[in-house]
Amino acid sequence: MEGASSSLLDAEAVADLVLLDPLTEESLVQTLQERFRRRDIYTYIGNVVISVNPYQSLPIYTPEKVEEYRNCSFFAVNPHIYAIADDAYRSLRDRDRDQCILITGESGAGKTEASKLVMSYVAAVSSKGEEVNKVKEQLLQSNPVLEAFGNAKTVRNDNSSRFGKYMDIEFDFKGEPLGGVISNYLLEKSRIVRHVKGERNFHIFYQLLAGASPQLLQQLKLRQDCGHYGYLSREGSNLPGMDDAANFHAMQDAMRVIGFSPAEVTELLQVTAVVLKLGNVQLSSSFQASGMEACSITEPRELREICELIGLEPGALERALCSRTVKARDETVLTTLSVPQGYYGRDALAKNIYSRLFDWLVNRINASIQVKSDKQRKVMGVLDIYGFEIFQDNSFEQFIINYCNEKLQQIFILMTLKEEQEEYVREGIQWTPVEFFDNSIICNLIENVSCPPSAGILGFQLPQAGIHWGRFGVTPSTMAQSTTGILAMLDEECLRPGVVNEDTFLTKLNQLLATHKHYESKETQNARRVTDTSLPPRCFRIHHYAGKVTYNVSGFIEKNNDLLFRDLSQAMWAARHALLRSLFPEGDPQKVSLKLPPTAGSQFKSSVAMLMKNLYSKNPNYIRCIKPNDTKAAMVFTPELVLAQVRYLGLMENVRVRRAGYAFRQPYGPFLQRYKMLNARTWPRWHGGDRQGAEVLLAGLAFPAEELAFGRTKIFIRSPRTLFDLERRRQER
Ligand code: ADP
Ligand code: MG
Repeated sequence: MEGASSSLLDAEAVADLVLLDPLTEESLVQTLQERFRRRDIYTYIGNVVISVNPYQSLPIYTPEKVEEYRNCSFFAVNPHIYAIADDAYRSLRDRDRDQCILITGESGAGKTEASKLVMSYVAAVSSKGEEVNKVKEQLLQSNPVLEAFGNAKTVRNDNSSRFGKYMDIEFDFKGEPLGGVISNYLLEKSRIVRHVKGERNFHIFYQLLAGASPQLLQQLKLRQDCGHYGYLSREGSNLPGMDDAANFHAMQDAMRVIGFSPAEVTELLQVTAVVLKLGNVQLSSSFQASGMEACSITEPRELREICELIGLEPGALERALCSRTVKARDETVLTTLSVPQGYYGRDALAKNIYSRLFDWLVNRINASIQVKSDKQRKVMGVLDIYGFEIFQDNSFEQFIINYCNEKLQQIFILMTLKEEQEEYVREGIQWTPVEFFDNSIICNLIENVSCPPSAGILGFQLPQAGIHWGRFGVTPSTMAQSTTGILAMLDEECLRPGVVNEDTFLTKLNQLLATHKHYESKETQNARRVTDTSLPPRCFRIHHYAGKVTYNVSGFIEKNNDLLFRDLSQAMWAARHALLRSLFPEGDPQKVSLKLPPTAGSQFKSSVAMLMKNLYSKNPNYIRCIKPNDTKAAMVFTPELVLAQVRYLGLMENVRVRRAGYAFRQPYGPFLQRYKMLNARTWPRWHGGDRQGAEVLLAGLAFPAEELAFGRTKIFIRSPRTLFDLERRRQER
């Protein structure tokens, strides 16, 4: 205990960055580096935990460690993810406050591992009845299933989650887990048909081929050889450190634990096999009687087998893949597709089947783990979602992901401030407004929430948090600049009849956002007479809170539209395979509607709004993950890389907000315990209360009055310097 609290005040490697003095980006990174060198991968900013990926297994997750952190006092022990998990769990159980744990960071930084550590900690410290254990097991086993279908090897991470995940774990009044609900966000479905060299498709395909018995393979009409399948990479099997076959069996066991029936598993794998086999359907051009070139299927075997798997007449699928029905007034005309159009339709079908199958999988897991009783519950939400992305080429996906992070940053600042303010009110201490960078102007630029900030900065009504809205940087003039958000303009382009392309979209952005401070493109630069050779054509640049990102508009319209030819959805609906046809309800000819489905962007926007509302109703806990190097190397720390992430994560702003008032606070008891030796004359004979004791002690040390505030239960110290001064005096004794 003693050692731990002295490390809190070790000026070389403070355990809480709020105590950094001086506070600069450099000193912040240096502190993380020094701690990392000592194998202290966790560091606090107040009650936010920063976690630096060690890329090696450290002996800090043992049952003994669980015991050490269980019921510990947050600041008394060395920073650890268990401390935050424990704090959140106890506050939920004992103080009846719903919690959320927000885990962010770039790919490979350790988010998913962190979310699993939180889940397993909570499972370890909550009670152990038979019924409860079953629930816990089901919750934990959702991970291998979702990882098999939703994770892939990328250049950044061998087990990279290609979807965002939010899981509500529900507890009864005693703090025993009852069940949970999972929401998923934006699966990277383009990976089904394409991935860059050195990466893989989703794990499940390799697992299936490596782990299925010969009978199962035969039943699914699959060959064991990865190289046979166009959608898989040849080098994909035999990844070092990854046992696909073993993982396949673990995944099957997990499904059993969750409660999938053998028939459901078979159906699921059949649809998975269909996706794989679609990639092998080859098209070529043939000349029709009319002399027109049209596409046809060259190798009918794969097509026939797919149709056998899904119970469909091969002619029907062939027709849907090679032609398209076009309705013109009262007539329907069958037009043949060109070969590129045919491949486009084939790939769109594969992506759609897989992403809908993934949604089905999440719903199916929810059906098992969801709480059926209407008992009063408490909730702990765990969010494991992609962090800010700035790549060489940024497209629609990065735009959407960065929008989500912009919203998370906004809610982070609001909630941190709210929490600070609530603590001040609780402790009866004067609250002074805090100045900070408000990113709602950027959120508005993207999503256009054109209401005054006090009416709903998050796109919904805020409770009266009493935060000083007047200090938010939103003035009427900046609001007026973004009367239409980029997402809405994109939707408008997608719906416009006639020739739509990204150029008209970009032109529109340039017109409407010509003077927006956070928007830039070649055209607006020319108009503003700025020359910047780094901004290419067909691109726009957003000044995000985390930095400037240049987005290439190519593909924005297609990705936002996300359309599947109606002939293909109708063919899927016509299949006898119950699971598959249930994925394509719009294929029912009785239900043909003229209304277009919502665009990918607007769907994402509304799910983000729901997520924000959900998070805002809970008490937040943050885990900020940092990737220390680009080579997945153990214990290597590259300061430049870390600095970039410190910026994306807004850590400087975090420290500033956190210590805007008082950098340090501690309950009177432990404070007195540590420093009473500074007044040897009084102490052995002191009989008063802790608060009074702290007052007497500090009065004798003659600090300036504004350095200290005496709250109801805690002492507040304004600057780190005063605290270090106390510490120095203590060591000199
Ligand atoms: P993310 O979800 O942020 O993309 P992951 O959680 O998948 O990243 O972590 C990537 C890899 O880093 C893991 O597969 C593991 O090898 C390693 N790793 C992450 N966190 C830890 C940790 N706390 N201890 C040891 N290794 C870790
Ligand atoms: Mg992950």
